[in-house]
Amino acid sequence: MGLCCGTFLGTGSVPTAERNSQSILLQFPETSIIVDCGEGTQQQMLKAGARCADLDSVFLTHHHIDHIYGLGGVVYAALLHTDLDRLAIYGPALALKKARPLVAVGATSFYDRLEWIEVATRDVIRTPYFRCTCFATFHTETSLGYLFEVGGAKLAFLGDVGLPDPSAVETIVSFVEDADVLVSDAAHISAVQAARIARRARVKVLYLMQGLTNRMPTPCT
Ligand SMILES: [Zn+2]
Repeated sequence: MGLCCGTFLGTGSVPTAERNSQSILLQFPETSIIVDCGEGTQQQMLKAGARCADLDSVFLTHHHIDHIYGLGGVVYAALLHTDLDRLAIYGPALALKKARPLVAVGATSFYDRLEWIEVATRDVIRTPYFRCTCFATFHTETSLGYLFEVGGAKLAFLGDVGLPDPSAVETIVSFVEDADVLVSDAAHISAVQAARIARRARVKVLYLMQGLTNRMPTPCT
Protein backbone atom coordinates (compact mmCIF):
# COMPACT_ATOMS: atom_id res chain seq x y z
CA MET A 1 0.00 0.00 0.00
CA GLY A 2 1.15 3.54 -0.74
CA LEU A 3 0.49 6.52 1.51
CA CYS A 4 -3.23 6.02 1.23
CA CYS A 5 -5.71 3.72 -0.48
CA GLY A 6 -9.26 4.96 -0.99
CA THR A 7 -12.35 2.85 -1.64
CA PHE A 8 -15.80 4.18 -2.45
CA LEU A 9 -18.08 2.07 -0.26
CA GLY A 10 -21.17 3.97 -1.36
CA THR A 11 -21.74 6.93 -3.67
CA GLY A 12 -25.51 7.42 -3.69
CA SER A 13 -28.19 8.83 -1.45
CA VAL A 14 -31.15 6.46 -0.94
CA PRO A 15 -29.72 2.93 -1.47
CA THR A 16 -30.56 1.09 -4.68
CA ALA A 17 -29.78 -2.47 -5.74
CA GLU A 18 -26.61 -1.22 -7.43
CA ARG A 19 -25.55 1.67 -5.25
CA ASN A 20 -25.06 2.18 -1.52
CA SER A 21 -25.48 5.29 0.59
CA GLN A 22 -22.37 7.35 1.04
CA SER A 23 -19.17 6.23 2.66
CA ILE A 24 -15.50 6.29 1.69
CA LEU A 25 -12.84 4.07 3.22
CA LEU A 26 -9.32 5.50 3.52
CA GLN A 27 -6.60 3.02 4.39
CA PHE A 28 -3.29 4.44 5.60
CA PRO A 29 -0.25 2.24 6.21
CA GLU A 30 -1.05 1.85 9.91
CA THR A 31 -4.75 2.56 10.24
CA SER A 32 -8.04 3.14 8.45
CA ILE A 33 -10.85 5.66 8.61
CA ILE A 34 -14.18 6.17 6.93
CA VAL A 35 -15.72 9.44 5.82
CA ASP A 36 -19.49 9.28 6.27
CA CYS A 37 -21.32 6.10 7.11
CA GLY A 38 -24.51 5.60 5.12
CA GLU A 39 -26.80 2.61 5.41
CA GLY A 40 -25.06 -0.70 4.68
CA THR A 41 -21.52 0.60 5.19
CA GLN A 42 -20.48 -2.37 7.33
CA GLN A 43 -21.47 -4.81 4.58
CA GLN A 44 -19.64 -2.73 1.99
CA MET A 45 -16.49 -2.79 4.14
CA LEU A 46 -16.63 -6.57 4.25
CA LYS A 47 -16.96 -6.70 0.46
CA ALA A 48 -13.89 -4.42 0.26
CA GLY A 49 -11.92 -6.80 2.46
CA ALA A 50 -11.75 -4.34 5.36
CA ARG A 51 -12.50 -4.87 9.05
CA CYS A 52 -14.43 -2.42 11.21
CA ALA A 53 -11.99 -3.35 13.99
CA ASP A 54 -9.15 -1.76 11.99
CA LEU A 55 -10.80 1.66 12.00
CA ASP A 56 -9.17 4.52 13.87
CA SER A 57 -12.06 6.90 13.38
CA VAL A 58 -15.22 7.85 11.54
CA PHE A 59 -15.71 11.35 10.12
CA LEU A 60 -19.30 12.51 9.59
CA THR A 61 -19.82 15.44 7.22
CA HIS A 62 -23.33 16.25 8.42
CA HIS A 63 -26.47 14.88 10.04
CA HIS A 64 -28.51 13.65 7.07
CA ILE A 65 -29.63 10.02 7.10
CA ASP A 66 -27.74 8.95 3.96
CA HIS A 67 -24.47 9.92 5.70
CA ILE A 68 -24.97 8.46 9.20
CA TYR A 69 -27.49 5.60 9.18
CA GLY A 70 -24.90 2.81 9.02
CA LEU A 71 -23.01 3.99 12.08
CA GLY A 72 -24.71 1.73 14.63
CA GLY A 73 -23.59 -1.44 12.89
CA VAL A 74 -20.07 -0.22 12.19
CA VAL A 75 -19.50 0.85 15.81
CA TYR A 76 -20.87 -2.41 17.19
CA ALA A 77 -18.75 -4.53 14.84
CA ALA A 78 -15.64 -2.45 15.56
CA LEU A 79 -15.87 -2.47 19.36
CA LEU A 80 -16.87 -6.11 19.50
CA HIS A 81 -13.18 -6.73 18.85
CA THR A 82 -11.28 -6.32 22.08
CA ASP A 83 -8.07 -5.48 20.18
CA LEU A 84 -9.48 -2.05 19.25
CA ASP A 85 -8.50 0.35 22.05
CA ARG A 86 -10.49 3.34 20.88
CA LEU A 87 -12.83 4.41 18.11
CA ALA A 88 -13.35 8.14 17.52
CA ILE A 89 -16.41 9.66 15.87
CA TYR A 90 -15.75 13.17 14.55
CA GLY A 91 -18.47 15.46 13.26
CA PRO A 92 -20.39 18.69 13.68
CA ALA A 93 -22.58 18.93 16.78
CA LEU A 94 -25.85 18.18 15.02
CA ALA A 95 -24.44 15.11 13.25
CA LEU A 96 -23.22 13.69 16.57
CA LYS A 97 -26.57 14.42 18.20
CA LYS A 98 -28.45 12.54 15.45
CA ALA A 99 -25.93 9.69 15.36
CA ARG A 100 -25.85 8.94 19.10
CA PRO A 101 -29.29 7.24 19.21
CA LEU A 102 -28.31 5.04 16.24
CA VAL A 103 -25.26 3.85 18.14
CA ALA A 104 -27.10 3.55 21.46
CA VAL A 105 -29.26 0.77 19.99
CA GLY A 106 -26.30 -1.56 20.38
CA ALA A 107 -24.94 -0.04 23.60
CA THR A 108 -23.15 -2.45 25.88
CA SER A 109 -20.34 -2.22 28.39
CA PHE A 110 -17.61 -2.16 25.76
CA TYR A 111 -18.82 1.16 24.37
CA ASP A 112 -16.61 3.01 26.86
CA ARG A 113 -13.93 2.83 24.13
CA LEU A 114 -16.06 5.06 21.90
CA GLU A 115 -15.12 8.75 21.78
CA TRP A 116 -17.41 11.45 20.36
CA ILE A 117 -15.47 14.52 19.19
CA GLU A 118 -17.36 17.62 18.05
CA VAL A 119 -15.58 19.64 15.35
CA ALA A 120 -16.34 22.86 13.51
CA THR A 121 -14.94 24.79 10.59
CA ARG A 122 -11.22 25.61 10.83
CA ASP A 123 -10.59 22.96 13.48
CA VAL A 124 -7.44 20.93 12.85
CA ILE A 125 -7.14 17.32 14.03
CA ARG A 126 -3.67 15.87 14.43
CA THR A 127 -3.13 12.16 14.88
CA PRO A 128 0.00 10.00 14.53
CA TYR A 129 -1.30 8.97 11.10
CA PHE A 130 -2.70 12.12 9.45
CA ARG A 131 -3.63 15.77 9.82
CA CYS A 132 -7.22 16.78 9.10
CA THR A 133 -8.59 20.30 8.57
CA CYS A 134 -12.36 20.86 8.88
CA PHE A 135 -14.14 23.44 6.73
CA ALA A 136 -17.70 24.59 6.00
CA THR A 137 -19.45 23.26 2.89
CA PHE A 138 -22.66 25.36 3.21
CA HIS A 139 -25.05 22.45 2.54
CA THR A 140 -26.52 22.93 6.01
CA GLU A 141 -25.56 25.41 8.73
CA THR A 142 -23.09 22.96 10.24
CA SER A 143 -22.03 20.67 7.36
CA LEU A 144 -18.29 20.10 7.06
CA GLY A 145 -15.75 18.97 4.53
CA TYR A 146 -12.45 17.40 5.53
CA LEU A 147 -8.95 17.83 4.13
CA PHE A 148 -6.62 14.97 5.07
CA GLU A 149 -2.88 15.40 4.76
CA VAL A 150 -0.64 12.38 4.98
CA GLY A 151 2.98 12.21 3.90
CA GLY A 152 2.64 15.30 1.70
CA ALA A 153 -0.52 14.05 -0.05
CA LYS A 154 -3.74 16.08 0.24
CA LEU A 155 -7.14 14.39 0.02
CA ALA A 156 -10.29 16.52 0.29
CA PHE A 157 -13.86 15.33 0.89
CA LEU A 158 -16.77 17.72 0.60
CA GLY A 159 -19.77 15.58 1.47
CA ASP A 160 -22.89 17.48 0.36
CA VAL A 161 -22.32 21.04 -0.81
CA GLY A 162 -24.35 24.24 -0.98
CA LEU A 163 -23.25 27.38 -2.79
CA PRO A 164 -25.54 30.15 -1.50
CA ASP A 165 -23.24 32.90 -2.79
CA PRO A 166 -19.85 33.37 -4.51
CA SER A 167 -18.06 33.62 -1.16
CA ALA A 168 -18.94 29.97 -0.46
CA VAL A 169 -16.93 28.93 -3.52
CA GLU A 170 -14.01 31.06 -2.40
CA THR A 171 -14.09 29.56 1.09
CA ILE A 172 -14.11 25.97 -0.15
CA VAL A 173 -11.39 26.70 -2.72
CA SER A 174 -9.18 28.22 -0.01
CA PHE A 175 -9.25 24.97 1.96
CA VAL A 176 -8.82 22.48 -0.89
CA GLU A 177 -6.13 24.35 -2.86
CA ASP A 178 -3.64 22.05 -4.59
CA ALA A 179 -5.32 18.90 -3.30
CA ASP A 180 -4.25 15.70 -5.02
CA VAL A 181 -7.81 14.35 -4.82
CA LEU A 182 -11.14 16.12 -4.35
CA VAL A 183 -14.37 14.16 -3.83
CA SER A 184 -17.48 16.30 -4.34
CA ASP A 185 -21.21 15.97 -4.24
CA ALA A 186 -22.80 16.39 -7.69
CA ALA A 187 -26.45 16.39 -6.65
CA HIS A 188 -26.90 19.51 -4.51
CA ILE A 189 -24.50 21.36 -6.78
CA SER A 190 -23.96 20.54 -10.43
CA ALA A 191 -21.03 18.60 -11.84
CA VAL A 192 -20.00 21.83 -13.58
CA GLN A 193 -19.96 23.75 -10.30
CA ALA A 194 -17.89 21.00 -8.70
CA ALA A 195 -15.49 21.09 -11.64
CA ARG A 196 -15.15 24.86 -11.30
CA ILE A 197 -14.17 24.47 -7.65
CA ALA A 198 -11.63 21.80 -8.58
CA ARG A 199 -10.18 23.91 -11.38
CA ARG A 200 -9.86 27.07 -9.32
CA ALA A 201 -8.22 25.10 -6.52
CA ARG A 202 -5.82 23.41 -8.99
CA VAL A 203 -6.98 19.98 -7.82
CA LYS A 204 -5.30 17.10 -9.63
CA VAL A 205 -8.18 14.57 -9.64
CA LEU A 206 -11.91 15.19 -9.07
CA TYR A 207 -14.37 12.43 -8.18
CA LEU A 208 -18.12 13.09 -8.22
CA MET A 209 -20.64 11.36 -5.95
CA GLN A 210 -24.44 11.08 -6.07
CA GLY A 211 -25.40 12.79 -9.32
CA LEU A 212 -28.61 13.13 -11.29
CA THR A 213 -29.62 9.47 -11.25
CA ASN A 214 -29.90 9.51 -7.48
CA ARG A 215 -30.88 13.07 -6.74
CA MET A 216 -32.31 13.97 -3.35
CA PRO A 217 -36.11 14.12 -3.78
CA THR A 218 -36.62 17.22 -1.64
CA PRO A 219 -34.54 20.25 -0.71
CA CYS A 220 -32.37 19.68 2.35
CA THR A 221 -32.74 21.82 5.46
ZN1 LIG B 1 -27.25 16.11 3.04
